[in-house]
Amino acid sequence: MAIIVQKFGGTSVANADKIRTAAARVVSTAKRGYQVVVVASARGKQTDELIDDALEVNPNPPQREMDQLLSTGEQQSVSLLAMAIEALGHPAISFTGAQIRLLTDGVHTKARIISIGTERIIKELQQGKIVVVAGFQGVDENENITTLGRGGSDTSAVALAAALDAEECEIYTDVDGIFTTDPRIYEKAAKIDEITYDEMLELASLGAGVMHGRSIQFGKRYDVKIHVRSSVGDKKGTIITHEVPQMEGVLVSGATVQENLAQIGLVDIDNKPGNAAKIFAHLAGAKVVINDIVQTERSPEKANISFTISKTDLADAQKAIKEIKDEVRCESVFIREDIAEVSVVGVGMRTHYGVADKMFGALAKAQVNIDSITTSEIRISCIVAKEEAEKALQAVCDAFELDKTVEQRTKSD
Ligand code: ADP
Ligand code: ASP
Ligand code: MG
Repeated sequence: MAIIVQKFGGTSVANADKIRTAAARVVSTAKRGYQVVVVASARGKQTDELIDDALEVNPNPPQREMDQLLSTGEQQSVSLLAMAIEALGHPAISFTGAQIRLLTDGVHTKARIISIGTERIIKELQQGKIVVVAGFQGVDENENITTLGRGGSDTSAVALAAALDAEECEIYTDVDGIFTTDPRIYEKAAKIDEITYDEMLELASLGAGVMHGRSIQFGKRYDVKIHVRSSVGDKKGTIITHEVPQMEGVLVSGATVQENLAQIGLVDIDNKPGNAAKIFAHLAGAKVVINDIVQTERSPEKANISFTISKTDLADAQKAIKEIKDEVRCESVFIREDIAEVSVVGVGMRTHYGVADKMFGALAKAQVNIDSITTSEIRISCIVAKEEAEKALQAVCDAFELDKTVEQRTKSD
């Protein structure tokens, strides 16, 4: 019997009605002849509320205790969902991450999955039960509860689908699928029918909060068919898949804006071999995730290095830089929190010219100044002032006609 993994995000299990609706969908999938594994997130804004609770009693809470606390949100959702499924007359059983041996490394609040035990899940499925697993959490080798980072339930779901060799991983959420950009910021955004893992990975890492980036890496590596769709109704959503030839016909698939960024600049460091390695090894030791790095030579003797990170890593990064700064003879350090990054992504960039020109032209027309630019084979990102971020995103979306579907855009080319 084929297995399907169905993941329900926070808004899709926010109250009793929504839990009942999710349960009904799960049961009807089981009745269609599938073995169903469900992954659930914490209800509504519960993770945010738990973080606030922690900060109220300790402004700098120990990360291990943070994970212990945050994991309770998902634990509540899965037991309620299992009860709702039972109420519909279908047997169900819920598990925490630790109970199914979802083993992670020990990096609290941003742990990475090492392995998943499937034995217990398969045994329960074979007994005819629907298995409901808490997303976002695991356990390290010392039996400490860990969490995978905000939005991490997507990764639990796709990793489980990979481990169980599921036919499909359905991600039920509060939008109809993946859009060309966040529809909360650009109302005219168009739904995308199919997107490649590579594009989605870029979009996710550049701030498209609709999917957790690590989930896409799992999907790509283990060939998991991911279907992102609405938890209301039965409309087809977006399929995340490998590249198919016609996708190259589209210049830009999507755009993002990322606002929770900070930029750190090291001014006038000694321009000699090994200094960049020293700085980034030290930051890696402090478990800081680096986004874009820009290095420029100021003179044969001196260079500047700047990089962007998530604001949540700022305190750790500042501490690490303070420790290494004298060793690389850095004259001064600047920190900016008033920035945002606007990006466009598309596999079509590999074979088309004129994308950069169009993006910079749109920003110029909207009178937005670009602080710095970084590119990869399939994306262009510009750092702009935070207060101009939304205006910049809208200008870029208009320029690339991201209010139109792929068919509408290829027809007008
Ligand atoms: P869930 O709780 O179901 O995991 P999330 O809030 O994590 O849901 O993700 C869904 C939200 O992601 C949407 O409400 C939407 O505002 C936002 N989002 C950001 N970028 C995109 C995009 N490109 N396409 C669709 N939604 C996006
Ligand atoms: N509950 C966690 C969060 O809010 C994980 C998730 O929703 O995927 O980030
Ligand atoms: Mg999410």
